[in-house]
Amino acid sequence: TRTLHLVMPDQLSQSLSALRDYDPAEGVVLICETMAEATNVPHHKKKLAFLFASMRHFAEELTSQGFHVRYVQLEDADNSGNVLGEIERAVRALGTSRLVATRPGSYEMINVLKAVRADLGIAVDLREDGRFLSTIREFAAWAEGKKQLRMEFFYREMRKKHQILMEQDGKPTGGVWNFDKENRKPPKKGLTSPKRISHRKSAITQAVLDMVEARFAGHFGKLRPFHFAVTRPQALLELDHFIDHVLPDFGDYQDAMVVGEPYLFHSLLASYLNVGLLLPLEICRAAEEAYHQGRAPLNAVEGFIRQILGWREYIRGIYWHLMPHYGQRNSLQAERPLPAFYWTGKTEMACVAEAVHHTCDHAYSHHIQRLMITGNFALLAGLNVKEVQDWYLAVYSDAFEWVEMPNTLGMALFGDGGIVASKPYAASGKYINRMSNSCSTCRYDPAETIGDCACPFNALYWDFLDRHRNLFQSNQRMPYVYAAWDKFTPERQQAIREQAAKALNAINEGTL
Ligand code: FAD
Ligand code: SF4
Repeated sequence: TRTLHLVMPDQLSQSLSALRDYDPAEGVVLICETMAEATNVPHHKKKLAFLFASMRHFAEELTSQGFHVRYVQLEDADNSGNVLGEIERAVRALGTSRLVATRPGSYEMINVLKAVRADLGIAVDLREDGRFLSTIREFAAWAEGKKQLRMEFFYREMRKKHQILMEQDGKPTGGVWNFDKENRKPPKKGLTSPKRISHRKSAITQAVLDMVEARFAGHFGKLRPFHFAVTRPQALLELDHFIDHVLPDFGDYQDAMVVGEPYLFHSLLASYLNVGLLLPLEICRAAEEAYHQGRAPLNAVEGFIRQILGWREYIRGIYWHLMPHYGQRNSLQAERPLPAFYWTGKTEMACVAEAVHHTCDHAYSHHIQRLMITGNFALLAGLNVKEVQDWYLAVYSDAFEWVEMPNTLGMALFGDGGIVASKPYAASGKYINRMSNSCSTCRYDPAETIGDCACPFNALYWDFLDRHRNLFQSNQRMPYVYAAWDKFTPERQQAIREQAAKALNAINEGTL
């Protein structure tokens, strides 16, 4: 009897539950590259190269430690092209009677594993993913009976559970749970960020880069230069570099955006965390230690830890708690087709062009660009929620459905009706002008709402609030915006509606 241990592309960790109790006498590890997964959306070339190179290196690491690995490359002649086909092939070839897997990163993949059980009649042992700091059951228990599922309260439970930034008397370090108020500084003039590290490219990585270039030429994004870590030791170097050189300023400029500075003081660790090259607790502990050693201030350390211990775990909880219905939601009936400039960056809106260029060059843009530029624009313009989600899933190297979907549909698009976000993250050009320096080079004027030079975000912002008044006017966090709208004369309100209609028309015609 042979046991097949399935390791999926985002499960490259030796601590994986699917590898627990691996027995060299009868176990085989299956890792496969498949065309179906590589092309379900047109994934960024850098993302594909990062994944394939990391998978191949992980297989090599396992092999060198005595694991039997069945690694299927994309180019293998017999590759069936999808995960189910590869499991079937392996089961037949090896005479397997049992498959061991770890909960995958999308709901649909669970159905694939159920199909294995039904089609092949073998036992499937689907295990929980121990790489997270909370369990799905724990989240469900926390959510039980609550009217609102606010991240902040979940996060406090997680701080207590893992005793991170906690004092002996049970109080949070620094006396408060959250230092967000200190973390919204606009960029000061001339703000630049520390240099990032690059990694030596092994023969494996070079071969993957050539393969991606040849086979995925039509996919989005620039493949080279390629700086990603693709092994655990390299990812640990990324972590060290972040803690030593970047973390101290993470808090202050967390929400800032600067032209030509895609990374600012962000960690770039999400991709490594999401595929298993790093683990969340080691990252949180490293940041906490930097605080205790006086190497980083508390507002930066708490703000950073909240993203991982709070937001990341909470988002995962939401996904598994509410799927599969969650994915069908579209509470604002957003149906407008995604404009071409999300792919090309060809728009006169400088902030949007900048965010798309970062995305194209690096398979990365930081949280505030994702939320307040590309996300905010999609929200205000009512862009089709499925198309926007597919875009986010394709273009970022850290994008996997369990984390991309609640962030896009819930946080950015308010498409879940307010489960993740207590109010829509809608903002006008005034906010963007305060938090970035892109308006100074833009053909539009963030101070104008009406006219040829008016920033499109302004009229779209008011029009969005006006269109959805029934839904939002009773929102306790929004009375002041409607009070401001009501102060406009009816003529001005009408002019704003017309200006917004022109912008929406221009989106449809591809001229914005
Ligand atoms: P940092 O700013 O350095 O943050 C530290 C870490 O905290 C990240 O590495 C990440 O692991 C975690 N984190 C921070 N915010 C979130 C969040 N909202 N949800 C989950 N984890 C978080 N993150 C993904 O990992 N994958 C996605 O597909 C993804 N899609 C997003 C889509 C939209 C519309 C938005 C608004 C956000 C999305 N995020 C996603 C969350 C966040 O923007 C990224 O995690 C972050 O930008 C990654 O860069 P970083 O590693 O430099 O993060
Ligand atoms: Fe963006 Fe408007 Fe500023 Fe131009 S003026 S960069 S469109 S916010």
